[in-house]
Amino acid sequence: MARAFIGFGGNLGDSRQLITDAIVCLAQRCELQILAKSCFYQSAPVDAAGGDYINAVIEIETELSPYGLLHVCQAVEQEFGRERPYANAPRTLDLDILSFEGVSQTDTELTLPHPRIIERSFVLLPLLEIAPDFFLPNIGDLKTYLPQVANQRIEKLPCRNCNCGEKDVSRQASH
Ligand code: ADP
Ligand code: MG
Repeated sequence: MARAFIGFGGNLGDSRQLITDAIVCLAQRCELQILAKSCFYQSAPVDAAGGDYINAVIEIETELSPYGLLHVCQAVEQEFGRERPYANAPRTLDLDILSFEGVSQTDTELTLPHPRIIERSFVLLPLLEIAPDFFLPNIGDLKTYLPQVANQRIEKLPCRNCNCGEKDVSRQASH
C-alpha cells in the first residue's frame, strides 16, 4: 500500500459540488481508501483563462500503481465531463497526482511529485492543511515554500462540517 495525495480543481459549473461528487466516486473504488480531505479553497486562475477556481486535496492509501492511479483519475475526469479544447482551458474537473509515496520520475505522462507542487498556493495550502509537516526528498519541507506563493490570491471557504475558515462561528448553525 502506498500513500498518495490528489489535487482537485475546477472552474466550470458548480465546482464545489463536482469535487465533492468526484471524491465520493473515488471513495467507492475498492483499490483506494481516503485518509484525509482538505476544506475547499477559492483561488485566482494562474496562467489560465476563466473565473476563479475551487480547489481541494485528499490523501489516499492505495494498492494501485502510480499509472493505475493516474488512469483512475482520468476516468473520473471523463465521467465528470472534462474536455481539453486547449492548454489551461477552463475545466469542470482536474485531478492531479501531487505525490505518490516513494516515487520520483519525470515521464511526461506522469511526473512525480507533480512539477508545480511548490509553485501554486492552491496546491500548497490545502495540502499543508491535511499534512502540515509534509516533506519530499529533493524538495524539502513544503511549508517553507509558502512565502513564494503569498502573492497568489486564495481564500479558504467556510466548511459545512468544521469551524475552519469561519470568522463568525455562530453562523455555522444556519449552514
Ligand atoms: P494540467 O497540466 O492543467 O493538469 P491536464 O489535466 O490536461 O492539464 O494534464 C495534462 C497531462 O499531464 C495529462 O495527459 C497527464 O498524463 C499529464 N501528467 C503528468 N504528470 C501528472 C500528474 N502528476 N498528475 C496528473 N497528470 C499528470
Ligand atoms: Mg491535470
